[in-house]
Amino acid sequence: MTTVSWVEVDEDAGFGIENLPYGVFARPGELPRVGVAIGDRVLDLAAMSAAGLVEDRHYFASGSLNAFMVAGRPAWQANRERVTELLTDASYRAQVEPHLIPVADAELLRPFEVADYVDFYSSEHHATNAGRMFRPQGDPLTPNWKRLPVGYHGRAGTVYPSGTPIIRPSGQRRAPGDQEPSYGPSLRLDFEVEVGFVAGVPSSAGRGVPTSAFRDHVFGFVLVNDWSARDLQAWESQPLGPFLGKSFATSISSWVVPVAALEPARVSPPVQDPAPLPYLRCDDPWGLDLHLEVLINGQVAARPPFASMYWTSPQQLAHATVNGAPLRTGDLFASGTVSGPDREQRGCMLELSWNGQEPLSLPDGTKRTYLEDGDTVTLRAQAPGASGSRITLGEVTGTIHPAQP
Ligand code: CA
Repeated sequence: MTTVSWVEVDEDAGFGIENLPYGVFARPGELPRVGVAIGDRVLDLAAMSAAGLVEDRHYFASGSLNAFMVAGRPAWQANRERVTELLTDASYRAQVEPHLIPVADAELLRPFEVADYVDFYSSEHHATNAGRMFRPQGDPLTPNWKRLPVGYHGRAGTVYPSGTPIIRPSGQRRAPGDQEPSYGPSLRLDFEVEVGFVAGVPSSAGRGVPTSAFRDHVFGFVLVNDWSARDLQAWESQPLGPFLGKSFATSISSWVVPVAALEPARVSPPVQDPAPLPYLRCDDPWGLDLHLEVLINGQVAARPPFASMYWTSPQQLAHATVNGAPLRTGDLFASGTVSGPDREQRGCMLELSWNGQEPLSLPDGTKRTYLEDGDTVTLRAQAPGASGSRITLGEVTGTIHPAQP
């Protein structure tokens, strides 16, 4: 059965009735509030609530999605069904239409308050490429890699909404062959194409979240660009993990796509061998058939396939909580750089230029090893939606600004 909205929608753009992602928006002089994207409009849920058209326990007239995210899956499902009804039943059109605002008239803000931020490393192709570059003598994958989803805790306070300028970070680095480190603007600034999920419902301390409970806790998915200063990272990360080479900025997309909208995109992940320990086992297929795209200054640089990720989102969540650390509303978990087996599927410049040794040629002839000041990086993603539709995760974009003197 095909569901059709009375709102005019460009189906190719991916913001049809099968998607209905949530975001936070504001118009000049107005307070931020929660909305749902449909076509090139935002449905103002705060105004819909005030008009008595959707149920609201003060979820929507706030500057973040957190209050709604903590309400849990029954509330998420009920609101999704109600919004679908209002946007498909033409008898509601006269009541609802005044609350549809052109996206072009709204500023899209960071959709939720980030509690904690974890970044995984779950693409076998990415981890293998990085291992080949940095440990050419040994096994590309470390002995733990196929036993657990490797990750680190990042910096929640510098997770920015799409469009935020990215100031080139400065820091300490030691060039290859040099004995002494130096200080200055990063010379190897990179992006990382990633997909993240955000927790809504907290969990109890001392008890992990089993893979089977993923949908009871997780609200939705966003695109993530984990900006990375490779020279700072390489020098500082011995022997601990990423620090200042990562913490200066992480960008997320404006729209949070509900888990329910991505059900038709679920596919079987790659076979896991050896079989993971019982707490990481997941019988349901939780790979996601997301087609990612990264553009540098509007030129396609790579198309990484998310379905190739070795560890799935429920496994990442189970692992991150298995020590009893409780989940909090707004916890953001990013997948790690998404890379496929082919060169044009690699999700960062480190791999695309093989650490600067093989410059990447963009379609217009420009070449890049790492990012230059003024470069704009945009990530996009599409996935199969219900009824044969395509849905989008929107985009996350950022422009590199020169280092501050
Ligand atoms: Ca990363």
